[in-house]
Amino acid sequence: MTHSQTVPVLPSETFCFDCSPDVPCFNACCRDLNQFLTPYDILQLKTHLGLTSQEFLARYTQMHMGPETGLPIVSIKPDPGRDRPCPFVTEKGCSVYAARPASCRTYPLMRAVSRSRETGRIAEHFMVLREPHCRGFETHVSRTPEQWLETQGAVPYNRYNDRLLEIISLKNRLRPGPLGFGEAYLFQMALYDLDAFRAHLFEGDGRHDPDLTGETLEAARSDDLALLELAMEWVKRKLFGDI
Ligand code: SF4
Ligand code: SF4
Repeated sequence: MTHSQTVPVLPSETFCFDCSPDVPCFNACCRDLNQFLTPYDILQLKTHLGLTSQEFLARYTQMHMGPETGLPIVSIKPDPGRDRPCPFVTEKGCSVYAARPASCRTYPLMRAVSRSRETGRIAEHFMVLREPHCRGFETHVSRTPEQWLETQGAVPYNRYNDRLLEIISLKNRLRPGPLGFGEAYLFQMALYDLDAFRAHLFEGDGRHDPDLTGETLEAARSDDLALLELAMEWVKRKLFGDI
C-alpha cells in the first residue's frame, strides 16, 4: 500500500488491528505531527507532567485561529527536525502514555459524532485510517471501534471532547465568522488555560461575574474536572447567552 486509505466501519463491526512495542513500525506514528489538543487532553497532560497550564502551553504547544470556525486551535509543537517528532516520543515509546491525547488513543480510527436535535442523543461514526507506515493491520486480532476505544481509555476523553464539539457546532450555527479579540481570548483562557481561568474566578474579575456563583463554583476551587465543566458552561453562556 503506497497511499493512505479510509474505510468506514460501524461501531459494532470488527476490524483487524493491534499495536505494541514489538511492531516493526514502533513510534512511526509519533512523527510528522499535526496533533490537535482538546481542553481535556491539556488537563490530563499538564497534570501528568506536574506543570501549570501556562507552563504546558508555552513549552509544548502552538496555537492558531481556525480559518472556518474563527476559534483558537491548540496543537502539539513538534520538536525541530526533518520528521517533526512529537516532543514526548522516546526510543521506549510514549513518555506520557498514561496521559496521551484522545487522538493518539483513537488511532487508527477517526471518530465523528452527530447529535439528534430531537433527543440530544449522540451517534458515533468511525473510519479506519490505513496509512502505509502503519503495520498494525498485519494481525489477526480484531475488535470493534467501541472495544478499541475502551481498551485505549478513550471513553472519558470523548465525553468531554464531545462537549467541546457541541460548543464549536453552536458557534458555527449561531455566531458564524471570527470572534472579536476579547471573546476569542475568553474562549482560549477558559478552555485551554485552566489555571488562568481559576485565577480569573477566584482572584480576578470573575469574582464579580453574576454568571459565576453557586456550588459548582466552590467545587471548581480545588477540582480540575469541576473547573473544566464550569469553563464549558461559562463559555457557552458568554458566547450564546441563555440557549
Ligand atoms: S503523545 Fe505519545 S502517543 Fe501521542 S504522538 Fe506523542 S509520543 Fe506519540
Ligand atoms: S504505526 Fe501503527 S502499529 Fe506502528 S506503532 Fe504506530 S499505531 Fe502502532
